[in-house]
Amino acid sequence: MDLNLKDKVYIVTGGSKGIGAAITHAIADEGGIPVIVTRSKGGVTDELVQELKKKRIAAHAIIGDLQELDNCKKAIDETAAKFGRIDGIVNNAGMNDGASLEKGPEAFRKSILLNLYHYYDLVHYALPYLKETKGSIVNISSKVAITGQGGTSGYAASKGAQLALTREWAAELLPYSIRVNAILPAEVMTPLYRKWLDNTFDDPAAKEAAIVANIPLEKRMTTAEEIAAMAVFLLSDRSAHTTGQWMIVDGGYVHLDRSLTTQ
Ligand code: NAP
Repeated sequence: MDLNLKDKVYIVTGGSKGIGAAITHAIADEGGIPVIVTRSKGGVTDELVQELKKKRIAAHAIIGDLQELDNCKKAIDETAAKFGRIDGIVNNAGMNDGASLEKGPEAFRKSILLNLYHYYDLVHYALPYLKETKGSIVNISSKVAITGQGGTSGYAASKGAQLALTREWAAELLPYSIRVNAILPAEVMTPLYRKWLDNTFDDPAAKEAAIVANIPLEKRMTTAEEIAAMAVFLLSDRSAHTTGQWMIVDGGYVHLDRSLTTQ
């Protein structure tokens, strides 16, 4: 199936690691132009852009911390100046930072800044371009938005707000045929996830095995590529009549009967 992404320009925040990197690759594989916006200087980001350029993909990276409003504006301005169009945005950068009720108001505010504001800011600055292309917006949220987890108020509030904004923007942007959808991953092995396992538990392998045992479909984690496949579908005009949706790509983790994993 041709997703018709060829030569179209898609911004992917946090697009050089984990889920974001898989989305960058998937866009490139479809002939699209991924623009990575991330704060990771050099290293993996440079390597990924070079790898894609070798395949004649006009990939581009913009380095900046999205917590700074100026960097959000710069990312849009630079993309538009370089490529002359923006066909979509994948809001993906973020992390579960454990800003709990106990940690207090300062930690909560920082977490919202880290996880939420840039989702809005990028879309705001990109609007004129998205109107021209009838673009598509994909917000990467989390199961935490609908299940709760405990100990992570800031992240949960941000992920929940991303779902609300997905519906809100889908409504507001109807006149321009700009579609807005969200993806809710549950358990996906990424550099961030690996770090959390290794730094939090005495026996990371046992913890990982316990997590995997709770995932109904094939008792395995979702791969980043499986999230990316949904993302490129939602970016593409193959999903031309899909908007305001929350796609839960999780091997049945959130919705299937608990007895399936407890017996
Ligand atoms: P990851 O491996 O850490 O990748 C995230 C990327 O985003 C990193 O490159 C990171 O850069 C970048 N980033 C984070 N904050 C940024 C900022 N303020 N400005 C610019 N770049 C920033 O994370 P992941 O596990 O792929 O997670 C991606 C998304 O999926 C997140 O929104 C996360 O909440 C969501 N999610 C993941 C899972 C899972 O199981 N992995 C489950 C549910 C939801 P640095 O390396 O410099 O920090």
